[in-house]
Amino acid sequence: MSIEKLLSESHRYGSDEGFVLLGGGNTSYKKDGVLYVKASGMELATIKAKGFVRMDLASMESIWENTYSTDDDEREEEVLKDMMACRLEGETARPSVEALLHALLPFTYVVHLHPALVNGITCSVEGESSSARLFPEALWIELVKPGFILAKIVRERLALLQEKTGKIANVIFLQNHGVFVGEESLEEISTLYDTILRTIEEQLVRKPDFTPLIMDEKKRTAIASTLEKLTGKKIASVLNQEIARYLVSEKAFAPVASSFTPDHIVYSGFKPLWVDEGASVEAAFGEYEKLYGNEPKIICVQNTGVFSVGEKPLPLFLDTVSVSVYSESFGGPQFMDEAMIDFIRNWEVEKYRSSVSMN
Ligand SMILES: [Zn+2]
Repeated sequence: MSIEKLLSESHRYGSDEGFVLLGGGNTSYKKDGVLYVKASGMELATIKAKGFVRMDLASMESIWENTYSTDDDEREEEVLKDMMACRLEGETARPSVEALLHALLPFTYVVHLHPALVNGITCSVEGESSSARLFPEALWIELVKPGFILAKIVRERLALLQEKTGKIANVIFLQNHGVFVGEESLEEISTLYDTILRTIEEQLVRKPDFTPLIMDEKKRTAIASTLEKLTGKKIASVLNQEIARYLVSEKAFAPVASSFTPDHIVYSGFKPLWVDEGASVEAAFGEYEKLYGNEPKIICVQNTGVFSVGEKPLPLFLDTVSVSVYSESFGGPQFMDEAMIDFIRNWEVEKYRSSVSMN
C-alpha cells in the first residue's frame, strides 16, 4: 500500500458528486508513526501527493494532555498552533481541521466524506434513531463545535464504546456534517461506503427531481445583469422541477432556507436570499447585506429561478436541495442551530478554507 493508492481513491471519491463537493471531505493514511492527511483548502478530486501533510502521530497524541483556553477563538488558535508543530520538518501546508480526528481513529486508512444521501440522515429530525436502526454498529455524534471539541468528543465516545463492547467503531456519523469511515484497506472502505449508501437509498420515500426547466429568459437576463452589477462577478442560474416546488412561496422555501453543514456555509453562504416575485432584487440584496454584513451567494427569486454569485455556490445549493429531499424520509430536515451557524461563520479556520478554495 502506498500514497499512490490513496491518491487514486481520493480522486475517485472527489470526482463523484454523490460523495463530496469542491473542497469538502478528506482522506488519510498512517504508516510508521506518520499521518498523511489532506491539507486545508485542497480538493480531493485533484489532490497531488504534496497536497497531503505529513504529521507525527505521537506528537498529535500528546495534544490530548494539553489544557486549552475555554474561549472558542483562543482555544482554536492554540490547537492550530500545536497541530502545526506536529508536522514533519519541511512541511509548509496547513493540515485539514479534521486532522486530529484522522489521527485518533486507529485505522490505516480513513475516508471522510459528506455524501448528500448520508446527510439526508445526519441533517434530519430522526437522524439519531435512524442511524441506530440502520447502522447499529456505527457511532452517532450529535451537533458539536467542529475542530478540537468534535475530535475530543469522538475520542471520548470511542473509548466509552470500547469499554462497553470491546469494539472500535469504524463508521462515525456526525450530525449536520457527514461520515468518517476507517479500515485497514481502501477496498474495505469502498465496500463499506457502498453498503451505507445502498442502505440509505432503500429507505427513501422519494428522490429529488432535477429535471431541468427553462427559465423565463427576459426575467433571467434582467436579474442576472442586476446581480452582475452588484457583485462584479459572473452569475450562474438554474431552474429544475425540484427547485420550482420550493420557489412557489417563502413557506414552501423554508426546507432549503438555512444551512445543513459547514460546507454549505463555506461555499453557498449561511442563508440564501429570498426575493418575492416582482420585488426589487437590488433592494433585497442591499437589505441582506445590511442585516448580515456580507453579500448573499445564492439568490432565489419566487416562481423564477435560483441565481449563484460565481459558479461555486451553485452545486452546494443543489446539495442543500438533495439533502432536504432525502431528509423527508427521516422525519424532515434539521438545519444547524443558530449558535453553530454563527460559530462557523466567524471561525478563522473556515474563513481560511473558504479563502483558499474560492479563488
Ligand atoms: Zn467534514
